[in-house]
Amino acid sequence: MRVAIFPGSFDPFTKGHEDIILKAVSLFDKIVIGIGRNINKKRYFPLEDMEAYIRETFKAYPNVVVEPYDILTIEFAQKHQAKFILRGLRNTTDFDYENPIAQINRIQGEIESVFFITSPEYAFISSSIVREMHRYGRDVSDLLPYKLRSQQ
Ligand code: ADP
Repeated sequence: MRVAIFPGSFDPFTKGHEDIILKAVSLFDKIVIGIGRNINKKRYFPLEDMEAYIRETFKAYPNVVVEPYDILTIEFAQKHQAKFILRGLRNTTDFDYENPIAQINRIQGEIESVFFITSPEYAFISSSIVREMHRYGRDVSDLLPYKLRSQQ
């Protein structure tokens, strides 16, 4: 079985992230979206809410599952017997950041990284931009693949 993980902070999960999954879904038997829990980073959108939003987004895809994790990403991949890590590339900054991580994951975990180039209509979206707009009360619904519940 070909399993891939898609790790990230997903604070929040955006249409850019959804686009990566939709491109990958026909290539793998199963995709595990891993929401990384970082004790040093306080989240803006609560993890439990984001987990529910992502689950709702992919409810039509039984082979796409979501799970929070707080271990090393290669250990999370090994836990799921995943040989592949999915990542998205928007620009050369993403590439420069991802390149050494992909090398170390290959050396230490024998895990290959699979990169998808973002569709141009989503290339400008980042979780940090969404947080900033939302913090100041702007409507971010066009940037997210699910509807935020009213209290957010
Ligand atoms: P991390 O904190 O691990 O970078 P993110 O949630 O920001 O987590 O991103 C997870 C993955 O999604 C990364 O590979 C990132 O490059 C990719 N990504 C983020 N935004 C977009 C986008 N708009 N289009 C495509 N890929 C994206």
